[in-house]
Amino acid sequence: MTIEEKTTPTFKLAMHPASEGDALILTWGRDALHRALVDLGRTGDYRALKSLLEDIGTFDLFTISHIDVDHIEGAVPLFKENALPIQAKHVWFNAHAQLVGAKTRSAPQDREVLGAAQAEKVTAGIVKSKWPWNAHFKSGIVSLDSPEAAAPLAFEGGLKLTILSPSDLKLSQLLPVWDAELEKTGLRTVDPDEVAAALVEGREHLGGLNVDALAAQPFAIDSTKPNGSSIAFIAEFGGQRVLMGADSHPDIVEASLRKLGASETARYRLDCLKVSHHGSRANTSPSLLSIIDCTRFAFSTDGSRHGHPHAETIARILKADPTRKKTLVFNFRQKSTEQWDDVELKKRWNYECLFPDAGKTGIEFDI
Ligand SMILES: [Zn+2]
Repeated sequence: MTIEEKTTPTFKLAMHPASEGDALILTWGRDALHRALVDLGRTGDYRALKSLLEDIGTFDLFTISHIDVDHIEGAVPLFKENALPIQAKHVWFNAHAQLVGAKTRSAPQDREVLGAAQAEKVTAGIVKSKWPWNAHFKSGIVSLDSPEAAAPLAFEGGLKLTILSPSDLKLSQLLPVWDAELEKTGLRTVDPDEVAAALVEGREHLGGLNVDALAAQPFAIDSTKPNGSSIAFIAEFGGQRVLMGADSHPDIVEASLRKLGASETARYRLDCLKVSHHGSRANTSPSLLSIIDCTRFAFSTDGSRHGHPHAETIARILKADPTRKKTLVFNFRQKSTEQWDDVELKKRWNYECLFPDAGKTGIEFDI
């Protein structure tokens, strides 16, 4: 384990290369630095990250947001290692047992326990690691409906986390499709956005990036159950806030923010929004954008499989706040991100783009 000595407060988000997914590290602290690991991308991404993970050694929190492969697959080889490359003081993950718990809690008259013996490699790995699992919650369920989620949770070094997603309802909705979603490998392999992306590819291209037209496209909300089960939260340190969206649905995040006092007339200040579902058009609604006060937006995706980030999402972000200077942070320079690195567009909509430095992979920035 390495402990860097720091005198000024540090609060950073790193978006490591994670294929089409997420492998994120939050770093915070004043004297000693603390870290949270949020998802691990795919198997190859874990292998590329392994030595960095070993160097860090101990994480205050390891969150696996949900069961989609682009978030969880890298955790499988991690738990297969003879000696775990990291230690986690806490791990958050809602597995089958938590879904059953959420369903039981929300609908006690309708108890139904499905087979709990899925090839659940990550669940088995967590059990074997003996890391405290969802220990902040008496029920063992990371959910808005666990009473502990009513107030921010405090972590060593001064970080506070406020849970925004999921709810018991969103968790229990995943239950009937859990088996179908976790195939033989114990992992989900198909993302409905893939289907949507293929359909878009087949459509006639509108030509150029017309922000007004793109932003005006009707919003159709993501209804996939695994994404709805995403653990999303606000991390706050030294008065700075980042919303870690995972692949969450915008309706529940918006409802959670409204409970925190956010509205169209009292927008909720964020220093960074890690945009949900890699910038999918179905996960950042105009109404969510209308209640946040944020000028920095981060996207984690190489654009493969789903063509993320979708142009509609970025257009809606620009359109929601056309005058203030905005920053778009991308962890890959790829077709769907590079098209925004356009002098005219940047001038017209007053934004800048941050990409990884040449020859570097991933990007880390101050929140
Ligand atoms: Zn994802």
